[in-house]
Amino acid sequence: MKFKRIDQVVERRLCMGCGACAAACENRAITLVDIRDQGIRPIVNADQCQQCSSCVAVCPGIDVSHQPFNDRGSIIAELSQEWGPALEVWEGYASDPEIRYCGSSGGAATALALFCLEKQEASGVLHIGARPDTPLENMAVYSRSRAELVARTGSRYAPAAPCEKLSWIQEASCPSVFIGKPCDVVALRKFQTMNPELNEKICLAISIFCAGTPTTEGTYKILEKLGVVPEEAREFRYRGCGWPGFTKVTLKDDDSRTPQMTYEESWGNILSKYGQIRCRLCPDSTGEFADVSCGDPWYRELGPDEKGWSLIIARTEKGRQIVQEARKAGYIELQNADPGILLRSQNALLGRRRQLWGRLLTMRMMRVPMPRYVGFSLFKSWLGLPVKDKIRSLGGTLKRIVSRGWTKPLKLTVNPETDYVFPDVTDECQVGQS
Ligand SMILES: Cc1cc2nc3c(=O)[nH]c(=O)nc-3n(C[C@H](O)[C@H](O)[C@H](O)COP(=O)(O)OP(=O)(O)OC[C@H]3O[C@@H](n4cnc5c(N)ncnc54)[C@H](O)[C@@H]3O)c2cc1C
Ligand code: SF4
Ligand code: SF4
Repeated sequence: MKFKRIDQVVERRLCMGCGACAAACENRAITLVDIRDQGIRPIVNADQCQQCSSCVAVCPGIDVSHQPFNDRGSIIAELSQEWGPALEVWEGYASDPEIRYCGSSGGAATALALFCLEKQEASGVLHIGARPDTPLENMAVYSRSRAELVARTGSRYAPAAPCEKLSWIQEASCPSVFIGKPCDVVALRKFQTMNPELNEKICLAISIFCAGTPTTEGTYKILEKLGVVPEEAREFRYRGCGWPGFTKVTLKDDDSRTPQMTYEESWGNILSKYGQIRCRLCPDSTGEFADVSCGDPWYRELGPDEKGWSLIIARTEKGRQIVQEARKAGYIELQNADPGILLRSQNALLGRRRQLWGRLLTMRMMRVPMPRYVGFSLFKSWLGLPVKDKIRSLGGTLKRIVSRGWTKPLKLTVNPETDYVFPDVTDECQVGQS
């Protein structure tokens, strides 16, 4: 299917809420809304839309293509088929103890961003943080100091659209760092293709690993379980401050208690049940288009009060150099890791990727619009599944298509009571402030 406008992508359930379409629209015709049970979605104002299709050109929901990896130097052959290009794999952590403690894993993403800020003359870091006024919602932020970066450490398991403010990178005086999920990084790369002057403006693109973004409904369920009324929350952390750390709410008017639950309870029992449809069709969970990607080395039992560790992959030569320079400059501690650590740590992500070809085949047969992927060897991966999982990838998808009515376009309605409409702030004023 050929898409002309971004609302068709939403109707066909292909949007994953990165926000890049809003940044690409010069006519400011796109407003983002966090629909509580769907995710962040663009709403097009038909009066302002000039039908230029810039929004469609940057959308990672429609298609994702790998260039051949052979221009990247010596990639690790055993990883290339199912984990994308990897030049080097390490385990490590931020040398700064506060960043290591506050970080989601070992604080590697923040430590590398800080190194670029302090030693590579980056002017800032485009990433996401909680909205100060409504802490259950996330917003794009441009951090320019250690304090700002530390305040925004930690995974936020709810919709977040860092690409909404890609214009801040264009406007910044020096190159910037970008941190986002794998699909956010794909959007960044597409935006770069559309705006080649941006190539000089990216100091480093960092991706976090991602098993799927839960809708905001999941966060509300956590609050319900903790007995907290949403309006009472001053701060909400999903993890970090320990490894993996607790999911924790700080209350506005009551310092005497901090309702919390373990990561296993919040992610395992609640959030993982609120995944977005589009994430089930994601081919890249480990940031294959980034310069560096960071995840959890979950390959061993964690001891009590264990300090955080990150699994770090250099995806490009530039990424490898910056990681090594950050180590020399004392920002990050590293030890080389056996590439097999990826499979042992992230088996579930591999399982999802292996199912993908079967899921897409069923969608094609049922004439449900599906994303187009080039260069992912999905069929080869699917062949590696046991027979029962092959059948499940086909049958499970068929069941969902029928029971959830995916053959029909989705009609999105915004409910002002429950959905969050992103404010229309000017880019300039945000980039100029702390
Ligand atoms: C939706 C989601 C799913 C995840 N699934 C996995 C998984 O399957 N396997 C795994 O190993 N790890 C997963 N993680 C965790 C994350 O990849 C790791 O914790 C990673 O190692 C980063 O840790 P760090 O200590 O280096 O990051 P930190 O130094 O704490 O920095 C985290 C950075 O991520 C940014 N960020 C946080 N949440 C989001 C978001 N929702 N969207 C965009 N940017 C964000 C922050 O702005 C910050 O810059 C997931 C995280 C999220 C948000
Ligand atoms: S660019 Fe991002 S937010 Fe816009 S439609 Fe595509 S996936 Fe959704
Ligand atoms: S699973 Fe894929 S599509 Fe979904 S949020 Fe993560 S990177 Fe994006």
